[in-house]
Amino acid sequence: MPMYSIVGHLNDTSQALSIALPALQHVSRHRQFTPWATEAGGQLFGTLNAAQICVTEASGPYAGDERSKYRYRSNLAAAQRAIEDRHKRGLLYLGEWHTHAEDEPSASGLDDDAMHRLIVSSQLNSNALLMMIVGRAPSTTGLAVWSVSSEAARRWILSTNPEET
Ligand SMILES: [Zn+2]
Repeated sequence: MPMYSIVGHLNDTSQALSIALPALQHVSRHRQFTPWATEAGGQLFGTLNAAQICVTEASGPYAGDERSKYRYRSNLAAAQRAIEDRHKRGLLYLGEWHTHAEDEPSASGLDDDAMHRLIVSSQLNSNALLMMIVGRAPSTTGLAVWSVSSEAARRWILSTNPEET
C-alpha cells in the first residue's frame, strides 16, 4: 500500500498535480498481481484551480463494467452516479483511471481512442482530463498520468511528495 501522496509537474506549465493518499490507496487495491486478474478502473475526483489539480478520491470498479485482462470500460450508469454523488460533495470529475497487467504502464492504442471519445463526449469546462494507468510496480514507477485535451496528451512527471518523505 502507498504511504506517501504523489505530486507531478509538466515541463511547460506551472500548474502542479497532487494525488492524495486515499485516491492512491483506492487504485492500488486493484493492481493486477495475478495472471488471471482483469483490468479494473473508474473515475477520478477532486479540485482544480490555476495553480493545482488535486485528485482526492477515486471511484470504481462497478458491477456491470466490461472487464478483461487487457480491457476496462466503466458501467456508464454507475460512473454517472459516482460523478453526481461527488458533485454533491463539491468534488469535480477530473478523469479516468484503470489498471494494466504490466509493471510500468504505457498507454495502448485502445487507451488513446477511449480518451479521445471521452474528451469529445464530455465537453467539460476544463480544458483537459486526467488519464491514470496503474501498473504493478510500487510508487511512481507503477503509475502513469496524462492530461489529455483535444490538442494533445501530456504525461506528468511524478514524484513522491517531498513534504512527507
Ligand atoms: Zn489501458
